[in-house]
Amino acid sequence: MRKRLFLSFLAIILLTLLLSILSVNFVFQKHFSDYLARSTEVTLEQLPERLSSSFFSHGCWNSDSLSNIAHSLPFGTHIVIKEPSGETIMTLINPMESMLKNDPGLWMDMGLNYTIEEWKNKTLMISGPNGVFAIAEVRYPARAKVLTPADQSFISAIYQSLFLAGALALIIGIILSYWISRRLTSPLQGLTKAVQRVGEGFLDEQVPVATKDEVGQLATAFNGMAENLKKQERLRKQFTADIAHELRTPLTSIRSYIEAFQDGVLPATKENLAIINEEIERLTRLSSDLKDLNVAEMGALCPYLTQVNLSALIDKTVNMLSPLIQEKGISLAWGKPESIFIEGDEYLLTRLFYNLLHNAYKFTESAGKIEVQMELRHQDVLITISDSGIGIPEGDLPFIFERFYRSEKSRSRETGGTGIGLALAQQIAHLHQGTLTVESCPGKGSQFMLILPLIIQEKPTPV
Ligand code: ADP
Repeated sequence: MRKRLFLSFLAIILLTLLLSILSVNFVFQKHFSDYLARSTEVTLEQLPERLSSSFFSHGCWNSDSLSNIAHSLPFGTHIVIKEPSGETIMTLINPMESMLKNDPGLWMDMGLNYTIEEWKNKTLMISGPNGVFAIAEVRYPARAKVLTPADQSFISAIYQSLFLAGALALIIGIILSYWISRRLTSPLQGLTKAVQRVGEGFLDEQVPVATKDEVGQLATAFNGMAENLKKQERLRKQFTADIAHELRTPLTSIRSYIEAFQDGVLPATKENLAIINEEIERLTRLSSDLKDLNVAEMGALCPYLTQVNLSALIDKTVNMLSPLIQEKGISLAWGKPESIFIEGDEYLLTRLFYNLLHNAYKFTESAGKIEVQMELRHQDVLITISDSGIGIPEGDLPFIFERFYRSEKSRSRETGGTGIGLALAQQIAHLHQGTLTVESCPGKGSQFMLILPLIIQEKPTPV
């Protein structure tokens, strides 16, 4: 690409140079030839006056004085001075021109290679105090192509400097195009190397962002992508480690109970078997949560959309959990509103509210308070589930919707959580084109806010 850019720049420079030289040449030729034509006309206009004063100052036609006049004649001008009767007195021609014409070699050397295609004629009256005493018949080139050696050297000086300026512009252009093409392509080369490294699995790769242009935007996008890949890789590792941990803990507990039963250390009482059963339930819940979450994240969870009476659905979930809540000594406030219908999947929405409410119950101490509110707005419904529980530390807030994330893990362990409930809840909210957010104050409580649209605009399709 660098080579192509360089060659394109070079081609543009050469073309521009060529066009400027051609246009300068054209304009110059035109003006110079106009100037020559004008100066020939001026010389010829002054000629009768000069010939007359030459004649009268000497009293006859003096050859020295006439030779002076001839020297000032433009090349190609031929003057025949005649008596009024028509008898030729003499012929005037620029002596330099006649000298050069006699030496064709020198003529060619000086670049005076021209042919005159068209002539102009003029008859000038030379008069004195007693009227016309001579006639000058002038023949000169119609187009002022003919140049004196002085004109010629002036023109070649102009062309020389034009050529020099062109050469200089070309050299500067080559250096600049090389520099610009290098500057444009070197960040891309850096990016290519970085992409290759990321492809090889080195996800720490970042490229410097030196500009704000398209290349800079590409570099920023690449850095974002590499950062995201790194995060995904970290999450994947964390996920595997978490799964292993989540499986190992209940399994170890079950095994140690069974070993204790076998060794006769512990009796297989109802209570002890209930503990094993709890651990097995935990494993079953984990596997079902994981399956649902995975399906939801893959986008394959296709909600079965119907008109759901949301207030009735929440009421049912509240009733499902209220014995547990009451047993723990927590007060529950739920002012069931009039029926509010939304478009949604009844089973998934029940899962969502169950998870949120169950969390509120789990993380609220006895004598605490849980409040569920529902507000019908213009195009959506806002459901708020607040508790006066342990709250969530500020540092944990951005992560609690991630799979397996549990703040203060040891305490959560006592509550029997898997760290999947909120991740699943958020996936369900997204499937319904809603949002789930949280505000919390450690030690004071948490507030989960769920906004669900009344009508789902773009229906999700199974993948
Ligand atoms: P878990 O199965 O551990 O409850 P969740 O995904 O439902 O998993 O919740 C993730 C973490 O978020 C919990 O472990 C807990 O630390 C925190 N959390 C969720 N809800 C609340 C709440 N109402 N009060 C305090 N902490 C909460």
